[in-house]
Amino acid sequence: MPDATHATSTGRPLAYLASVPTDVVKGIGPKGARQLAGAGVNSVADLLLHAPRRYLDRSQVFDLSSVPLGEEVTVGGTVLEFEARQITRKKRMSDAVLSDGTNVVKVRWFGRILKLEPGDELLLSGKVERFRGTLSMTNPDVEQVGGTSLVTGRVVPIHPGVGNLKPGKMREAIDNALRRARPVHEALPEEILRRQHLVDRDSAIAGLHFPDDRAEAEAARRRLVFDELFRLEVSLAMRKYQQVEAAKGVAHRVDGVLVEQFIAALPYRLTGAQRRSIEEIRRDLASPHPMHRLLQGEVGSGKTVVAVAALLTAVQGGFQGAVMAPTEVLAQQHYLGIRDLFETAGIAPDEEDPAAPPGMDSLFVQGEPVEDRPMLRMALLTSNDAEVNYLPPGTARRADVVAAIGDGSVDLVVGTHALIQQGLSFDRLGVAVVDEQHRFGVYQRVQLREKADLYDPDLLIMTATPIPRTLAMTLYGDLEVSILDEMPPGRTPVATHLVGTAEVGRAWELVRRDVSVGRQAFVVCPLVEDSDKLEATSATAEYQRLQGILPELRLGLIHGQLRPAEKDDVMHRFRSGEIDVLVATTVIEVGIDVPNATVMVIEDADRFGLSQLHQLRGRVGRGEHAATCVLVADPTTPESEERLAAMVATTDGFRLAEEDLRIRGQGTVFGVRQAGMADLKLADIVRDAEMLVAARREAFDLVAGDPVLADHPLLAEEVRALLGADVDWLFR
Ligand code: ADP
Ligand code: MG
Repeated sequence: MPDATHATSTGRPLAYLASVPTDVVKGIGPKGARQLAGAGVNSVADLLLHAPRRYLDRSQVFDLSSVPLGEEVTVGGTVLEFEARQITRKKRMSDAVLSDGTNVVKVRWFGRILKLEPGDELLLSGKVERFRGTLSMTNPDVEQVGGTSLVTGRVVPIHPGVGNLKPGKMREAIDNALRRARPVHEALPEEILRRQHLVDRDSAIAGLHFPDDRAEAEAARRRLVFDELFRLEVSLAMRKYQQVEAAKGVAHRVDGVLVEQFIAALPYRLTGAQRRSIEEIRRDLASPHPMHRLLQGEVGSGKTVVAVAALLTAVQGGFQGAVMAPTEVLAQQHYLGIRDLFETAGIAPDEEDPAAPPGMDSLFVQGEPVEDRPMLRMALLTSNDAEVNYLPPGTARRADVVAAIGDGSVDLVVGTHALIQQGLSFDRLGVAVVDEQHRFGVYQRVQLREKADLYDPDLLIMTATPIPRTLAMTLYGDLEVSILDEMPPGRTPVATHLVGTAEVGRAWELVRRDVSVGRQAFVVCPLVEDSDKLEATSATAEYQRLQGILPELRLGLIHGQLRPAEKDDVMHRFRSGEIDVLVATTVIEVGIDVPNATVMVIEDADRFGLSQLHQLRGRVGRGEHAATCVLVADPTTPESEERLAAMVATTDGFRLAEEDLRIRGQGTVFGVRQAGMADLKLADIVRDAEMLVAARREAFDLVAGDPVLADHPLLAEEVRALLGADVDWLFR
């Protein structure tokens, strides 16, 4: 008898099967192949990994005489009577009576014309009801029992149907594909299989589709889930290697005085988490390899200071720093905020010569620190705005600002994606900070890095969206992570209440109360999905309505349709206290920092996602005063109820993120496909979290010893074949 290990050491590689089109499989044909491609099944390899939705086995099929009522069950039977009727053009139904020998059941399908006849054997899944002693089912899933497999009591896979390939056809096609493709070659090292208690790949692929029992199906799934996660983690490990180990970076000077001077001049003491992160970054910057680090920290945890410390390290060594923000408002705010921080620390442009012409010596002449002249030149560049801190606002010309970035006469640039536009180049970009807030992807990161030619600048990515550990391992798996898990002292968590729309008056009371003692409030209007325009219209209407409800207060309005100058003006008036209540759309979601605002009213809160609610709530509670968030909603689904309950229960962003992932599942989280991120088909990072951790460890260990997979050619081929063009560059 051939031993199992030997049997798997030959066979067809998965990478090869990924190049075989599905129409060669008997039972699929050109049309089926097109439909499969539409569902993401592009090759025989994909088909072999098209996992059954569930399995049916005989023991699970209830006798009609003893079936539990009102629960999801499967029953079987033979058709005694059948009739399908087209009642009107739109209305149709099918009726059947089935018997399984223990009882009969009447079945009705609304809206469907089924093709059945007496004698057909069916499996029905759904709820069985009883009325006056007669069993009935409405709209059950129906499955024709074909062949002999079912009656002999074997486990039957129910595959998701695609187009004309209904589950039964799909099963046959996959059976045909298996006959031709097997044996499938093993690509993973023996030791990994042994350590992780995994079955070999060929058995796994067979066992996934036609297991003898549940245990075999489960072992097969485990193995294939591992494969999928392992391939992903291998690609991340390789990317990390190429971005860091194999790349040429800048070994920054970290012994200058600027950073210390800056920190010493802050009006507060750094939190432990801030100090730790600054130290981690400092070590990365000093190393000759480019930094690739994620700075993760709750809204208000003080990421800005950490980022500025990194930027100043670049500047004090004669390099430029850049900050890229996801929105205009946020870019502007960063620019103003950072400028203020520098002024506090005494490293602002020379007061005596505020209008020095562009092109004059920067803080540092030709990379040499001039430490006795405390002056730092900053620029703001967005698609609508160009400013430098050494000219009066409104007087800098865009072309001059772009030129100043290019010739090195500004040290620090804050901007939007305008920073990665064509034709803009930096003189000597040393540290780039990307304030990501989930709006950029890997692609923009790479583009910003490419703004320096001869070396890779150090990269710090900031995110305020707490990311569950498992998700971070996939989305940001190629980055080192620093976490600000400690809030600056003196913050009281935002008290959060849920009120029904009938009691919305309580929210306005609260607004009046806080405004009367000098505070300010936000009112966030209902979300209008996918339409800035409609959202703006509805916000405008709400603004007008609220003027009637809060006539004694000064209201302002901000939404995405305002021109940038108008937005600035409103934000300015809110910041300076000329506006009491800012009626807003989600444009305020990101980064807005007005410490005097203490009330956040979110209307139709059930329409927002959990992370969005958390971001919005983060706009208040940023100052010394206690703050309140009122969620106005009449939730109509269990899911929205869960979301709102989670918001009331905790202000801990990490807990909310875990909740969000649990409630929504990874499908939605991955809804926006990340560049370089393969969709996971079998794996579910919530359910398979442990497996993910294991796969990551194995992958990083393997790549550490074999960075370009020279000793694992089969694995290299399949990472490339299955993750597609996204990973091509890893193999260049
Ligand atoms: P984030 O960007 O992480 O949301 P910010 O950097 O905008 O947070 O900081 C939020 C607020 O906290 C700012 O007003 C900032 O001045 C203040 N802050 C930051 N660090 C500290 C600290 N260690 N102690 C007190 N206040 C701090
Ligand atoms: Mg911030």
